[in-house]
Amino acid sequence: MNRTARLTFAAIVPCVLLTGCVAFTKAIHYPDRRPAEPEIQAVADRLTAVAGVEAVSVTVWGAIDDRLPIVSPVAVIRGDDEILIHAIFVRLYDGRKDALAVLFGHELGHRLAGYASDPEGEARADAFGVILAAKAGFDPWEGAVWECAMFKANDRQNRLDEVHPPAAHRCRVLYAAAAIATRRNAP
Ligand SMILES: [Zn+2]
Repeated sequence: MNRTARLTFAAIVPCVLLTGCVAFTKAIHYPDRRPAEPEIQAVADRLTAVAGVEAVSVTVWGAIDDRLPIVSPVAVIRGDDEILIHAIFVRLYDGRKDALAVLFGHELGHRLAGYASDPEGEARADAFGVILAAKAGFDPWEGAVWECAMFKANDRQNRLDEVHPPAAHRCRVLYAAAAIATRRNAP
């Protein structure tokens, strides 16, 4: 992670983490929804194309200066065809396609492979996201490193929600999946 990215984490993530208690996605109404920028939508399109499934729409909600009502999930898949991501995280990811691919790939894992929202399902979705991102031509290591940093920054949420495994475990899963994906895709 370069210096700018580190500073971004230092500035934004603690704000997000300090904003509130853990309520969950069911309670959110996702105000101010609008389509994601084309470059972000294009990341999801590459994933669904390589998976051979219907496209999903990426929707941004909220505003960059929101105080999040929750310790927010970064992204969530709703129904069969929509991935929601808060504006704060769009800013934080800052166009990092490899990381967005792993993030969206995780959400697609819930939908395509039916992984449950429990620690085992979340870990499987993490691995699925890395493998699918690699298949779609994204760099699985770049994506895994960024996602791991996100998990570590959000580890307090991980511990509170009892759905996601601890960050250290999720990082091990991401890197193992990246290693497998790299080997599989080696020339
Ligand atoms: Zn998940």
